[in-house]
Amino acid sequence: MVTKVDHIGIAVSNLDETLKFYKEVLGLKLEGVEVVEDQRVKVAFLPIGDTEIELLESTQLDGPIAKFIEKKGEGIQHIAFRVESIKDALEEMRQKGIRLIDEQPRYGAGGAQIAFLHPKSTHGVLVELCERK
Ligand code: ZN
Repeated sequence: MVTKVDHIGIAVSNLDETLKFYKEVLGLKLEGVEVVEDQRVKVAFLPIGDTEIELLESTQLDGPIAKFIEKKGEGIQHIAFRVESIKDALEEMRQKGIRLIDEQPRYGAGGAQIAFLHPKSTHGVLVELCERK
């Protein structure tokens, strides 16, 4: 039911500093930056092959990304899998007894519809399901 790794979400303390590594050292291109108010996060997208690296910097001290870094330090925060229909995927997860963080799809950076699954149901990985037009 999942079709590809849509992106890998990485929590960073300082977006500009981190971008130097991804652009200058790894040679990736910055496709865009977007602030998602709802999630108190500033997101930078760097395509690589048919997937993307998503760098996440908190816009507030108490945002989810700030809390993640406080607990675990910078690093991989989530993996996003592409699905064709987020609604169908959530229903299927429910039927399979998977714990959901988001009962309903919500807006994700880049115009995606997203929903997170609870790491307790996914062997420790914060999994994002992601539908894009
Ligand atoms: Zn994501």
